[in-house]
Parts: sequence; structure tokens; C-alpha cells
Amino acid sequence: MGLVVAKFGGSSVADAASIRRVAKRVVDTKKAGNDVVVVVSAMGDTTDELLDLAHQVSANPPGREMDMLLTSGERISMALLAMAINDLGMEARSYTGSQAGLITDSSHGKARIVDVTPDRIQQAISENAIPIIAGFQGVARETKDITTLGRGGSDLTAVAIACALQADVCEIYTDVDGIFSADPRIAPKARQVPRITYDEMMELAAAGAKVLHLRCVEYAKRFNLPIHVRSSFSEKEGTFVIADLADQSQLVKLSKQGAVMEQPIIAGVAHDLGDAKITVVGVPDRPGMAAAIFQAIADSGVNMDMIVQNVSASGATATDLSFTVPRADAAKAELQLRKIQADLQFKDVETDENIAKVSLVGAGMRSHPGVSATFFKAIAAAGVNVEMISTSEIRISVVIRAEDAKTCVEAVHSAFGLDADGEAVVYGGTGR
Ligand code: ASP
Ligand code: MG
Repeated sequence: MGLVVAKFGGSSVADAASIRRVAKRVVDTKKAGNDVVVVVSAMGDTTDELLDLAHQVSANPPGREMDMLLTSGERISMALLAMAINDLGMEARSYTGSQAGLITDSSHGKARIVDVTPDRIQQAISENAIPIIAGFQGVARETKDITTLGRGGSDLTAVAIACALQADVCEIYTDVDGIFSADPRIAPKARQVPRITYDEMMELAAAGAKVLHLRCVEYAKRFNLPIHVRSSFSEKEGTFVIADLADQSQLVKLSKQGAVMEQPIIAGVAHDLGDAKITVVGVPDRPGMAAAIFQAIADSGVNMDMIVQNVSASGATATDLSFTVPRADAAKAELQLRKIQADLQFKDVETDENIAKVSLVGAGMRSHPGVSATFFKAIAAAGVNVEMISTSEIRISVVIRAEDAKTCVEAVHSAFGLDADGEAVVYGGTGR
């Protein structure tokens, strides 16, 4: 077929038996006449365990050392997988991100890729060896220190390598059969989506769907690289992420399924339990207040998402301003607001961690009226109260109580006719 970059996530290489199973799979792909480049994550929950360990020895581990520590997880799986493949009679060679030419900036823990120079990988391919690359890591151009790309960054490694090598496809192997219309762990009626556009996938990833890393989809879109998300536990065809569902030209070589004629209106429902809602209470109602508040949040380096402004419960000449931030950053944002409280003369700051965000995503929203009406009717019928709303061209999101997340996702999923007949299979992983 051509050149395949295959990435295996932590749950696919969780133990020795899994690594041997993945080795067999890689060898089979090679035997079918493809060149194969493999990218691996750390085994199982290794990264979390290393993080825990670091915090046991230090209250404030330096970023440089943290990256040095965390990248060791991927180095374990790359070497073990190379051994297992060599055992099956094919030559495999493992490479760190640095050796594979993943050049980044120097922001430890969230480095950005600035260049990919995979000379050694090309060399290995030309010598008929299978390169195995440690995901999630690179080397900083300026400092020459080892960096990591952020949690879940192995997807990004795989896509970046695939783009640099002009691969035909980047296969992302995971513990579910592909991308689902909702998270099968909370909505068992979720169905597998055969194809999805980059734009829809980006919205779903940003809205909390964990199956693919947002930055990896952005990167693939820029290079028009097809991504195939599939299970390492089954042979089934998974989900293709491509630019345009009507354009099947890229999929001719990749997919056994025929063309998908009609584009579905809705791609899926995502939920996110990782946010907190901050309310600034009793903000004097005059120009410049929102600007000052959001400047303070920006200065603290925290990203905000949804924003709502209401007439304050505390009086008609004041407003309440609520917005969502990642839960991990809520304390930092609140602290920053306390610093300007006396200056701006608002009454109080409240942080509510008990929220969920539920989002409906679909490119068909652009051209089909009534999507919002169906969405809110379903939520109301489920007895769930909506606290905040935001939209994009192809997404509607609401903030609700955290304990309503499952009810809300399932109600919306059914209302749009997305329910499958059987139950989705989750093969492995601890979902950590
Ligand atoms: N092992 C890293 C993590 O757990 C990178 C990855 O799995 O993609 O975040
Ligand atoms: Mg992982």
C-alpha cells in the first residue's frame, strides 16, 4: 500500500503479552507490503506513576527534570517492542524523539514542534528495518534539552512524523474501535462513526472527547494527512479523519468500505468533566469591567472557555460574570481575581467545581435548521438545568451540574437518533 505510520497508545502496550501482540500486528502490516514506522506511548499508566513518584520526592520538580523523567516511559516501550519484533524475524530499531528528529521549542511539559528532520528514520526504512519511535518527546533546538509535548502527545508525534515522511496514512491504535458518537464509557449506546472531518474532530477534541489529541488533528489538517483511528484489539476498520466526507479519493486505497453518500448532520456528543465555573459576583455595571477582569485572567496564563453575564442577584446596578476554566487552573484564576477585587469593587468570587460541559458537534448544523431546538428540548425532557450556553458554527455547548452529565449525554444522543442497537466495546485501559 505504501508508507504507514502506526501509533500504539499506553493500553495497547500495557504488558509483555500486549507488546508481543502489537509486534505481530506491525510485522503483519509490513508483510502485507507496506513500509511501517511505529510510534509508541508509555506502558499502561506509567506516565501517571512517574508523575506521582516525582511529587513524592519533590514539591516543585523542575520542568527540565520532569521531562527527562517522563520521557523514560516511552523509551521502555520502544525498546521492548523492538525486541519483540526482532524475535519475529524482522529488524526493528528504536529511536528517542530526539534521534527521530523531533525538534521543539524549550517550554518543558508543553513544547511545540518547530521542525521534523527524520533522517535516521528514512535511513532505517531504506534498509528495510522497522523504526520504533518514542512518542510525546523531542529535543529543544536552543537548549538541547529533552522536552515533552504535553499529556497525550504521542498522537502528535505520530502525525508529525507521518507528515514529514509524507506517509499515506497515520494509524492511531487505541482501546476502542474508532471514534464514537459519544464516550462509550458513559453512553453505552454510542455508535462508531465511519468517517469524520478534521473540523468536527477538532471541535469534539476541544469539547472533551479524549480519543484524539486536538493538536494532532490540527496538524493533520494542515498537511491533509488522513488519520485512521482503530483498535489494536480487533481487525475491524476504524474511523477515518479526513478533510471532506464527500471526497473519497484518499480513502480508495485505505478503506474497504464504499463511499459514504449522505453526510450525517451530527458527528457526536462530547462531555467534559475537567472544567470549573468561576463567578465574579456584583461587578459594578460600567464600561471596562469585563476587560479588566479578563485581562487579570489572561495575566495568570489561564485559558477561559464559556462566558455569561447576568444582572446580579446582589442589585440592579451590578452584574455577575461567570466563565469556565480548566479545573486545575481555577485556584490560580481565583487568586488573581482577589488581587484586583478592591480596585474593581466587585463583591465576591465563587468557584464551582461541580460542573460538566456537554457539546453537540456536526458540520450539518450549518445547513439544517432546528438543531438547537431539538437539543434543548431533549435536555429539558431529561430534567436537566442549563447554566451556560455557547456555540460555534458547528457546535452547541451547555454547562450543567456534573451529576447530570450522563443523563444529558444519553438524552441528546437519543434525540438525534444516534443510538446503536448493541453496546460499544471498550477493550482495555483504565481510562486514567
Ligand atoms: N505517555 C504520555 C501520556 O500519558 C503520552 C501519550 O500517552 O500520548 O500523556
Ligand atoms: Mg497515554
